[in-house]
Amino acid sequence: MNSDNHINAIAEQLKQARHCVVLTGAGVSAESGIPTFRDALSGLWEKFRPEDLATAEAYRKNPEMVYAWYQWRRQLISDTEPNAGHYALAELAKRVERLTLITQNVDGLHQRAGSADVIEFHGNIFRNRCFAENTALAPDTTRSEKPPLCPVCGAMARPDVVWFGEALEPQVLQASAEAIDDCDVFLSIGTSSLVYPASELGLAARSNGAVLIEINPQQTPLTAVCQFSVTANSAGVLPHMVRALKT
Ligand code: NAD
Repeated sequence: MNSDNHINAIAEQLKQARHCVVLTGAGVSAESGIPTFRDALSGLWEKFRPEDLATAEAYRKNPEMVYAWYQWRRQLISDTEPNAGHYALAELAKRVERLTLITQNVDGLHQRAGSADVIEFHGNIFRNRCFAENTALAPDTTRSEKPPLCPVCGAMARPDVVWFGEALEPQVLQASAEAIDDCDVFLSIGTSSLVYPASELGLAARSNGAVLIEINPQQTPLTAVCQFSVTANSAGVLPHMVRALKT
């Protein structure tokens, strides 16, 4: 059910919330033209699976191929714009008492739409770090498919994103856990709720007593435990929801 009453009931929950945590996934950027990982890769990369490219092992075996994929994705993202869903979430932060935005997206589109203090759960594709020492390096502004080298130790640079099988940054985990412990409303948007540990955040919020709301055109493992589920694309429904908050 996606009637106006349903949207108004969600807006009411958001109005009353003391601390709302929003978790976003690749679906929020789908309407900007950035494919989700559940969509088949397109063009040059259609024969590959992200699970075979986005790993440290793949990078060790074939750094130029993996780095070329990241340079291609960086270009693809640079050519896109935030969509109405990103802008609505930036607006939502001004209209609720407190909002923490956690994103699994590495594309920086929330920040480009005006969201501040975004917790980047899986890093940011435009940053690089040293593959050996893990130190921050300057972003690569070239279009070269060859990984740049760390100016200090000479090791290869790598994109500053969390690859499959890697641990998250401890400060990211801590900031997210603190927000989840404190929140009374949890909004899950455009995520399949399949990628651990992001998939646990909604469940943790629920066991702390938070109201769970989901926006996704497809069912996910979280849908059954949500009090409110909106079966729709985020760029369409989020502006509507934020407008309902103003009335
Ligand atoms: P996912 O690919 O597993 O799932 C995407 C979800 O979005 C699906 O449940 C799908 O039904 C939903 N969806 C599709 N179109 C939508 C729309 N218009 N509005 C709302 N929802 C929509 O993505 P995930 O859950 O974020 O996890 C996969 C991993 O992929 C994450 O680690 C993320 O970092 C990475 N990733 C990021 C980007 C990006 O930064 N834009 C793109 C692809 C993958």
